[in-house]
Amino acid sequence: MVSLFLFFGKKKKNLAQNPFYGEKNSLVVYMKCNKCGEVFRSHLRKGYDFLIDYDNPSVPYKIDKLYVGSKCPNKLHLTASFTASYKVISVSLDGGTFITREEYEQHHK
Ligand SMILES: [Zn+2]
Repeated sequence: MVSLFLFFGKKKKNLAQNPFYGEKNSLVVYMKCNKCGEVFRSHLRKGYDFLIDYDNPSVPYKIDKLYVGSKCPNKLHLTASFTASYKVISVSLDGGTFITREEYEQHHK
C-alpha cells in the first residue's frame, strides 16, 4: 500500500483523467475557482459522500457536488462516476479547474 502510493506519487498526475487522490477511506480532490483563483480541498468519504446508482451496477458510485468559496459567488460543480472499486470512469468540473495536491499546498503555506 505504501510502496504503491510512493510509486504513483512519483509519476506526473493526469488530472483530466483522474484528479482524485486515494487516502484511507476517502478520495480527495483539489480544485481552483475559475473566477477568483480560490483553492478548495474536498474529502469524499467512501460510503458517505458517494451517491449509489442502483440501476447501473457496473458504475454504481456517483459524485454530484457544488462548492461555493468565500471570495466570490461562482459555484464549482463536480460530477463523477466510479466503478464498485472506486475507479474513475468519468469526471467533470464546471466553474473550476482541478489542481494537484502540491499546487493546493502552495496556497496554504
Ligand atoms: Zn471564486
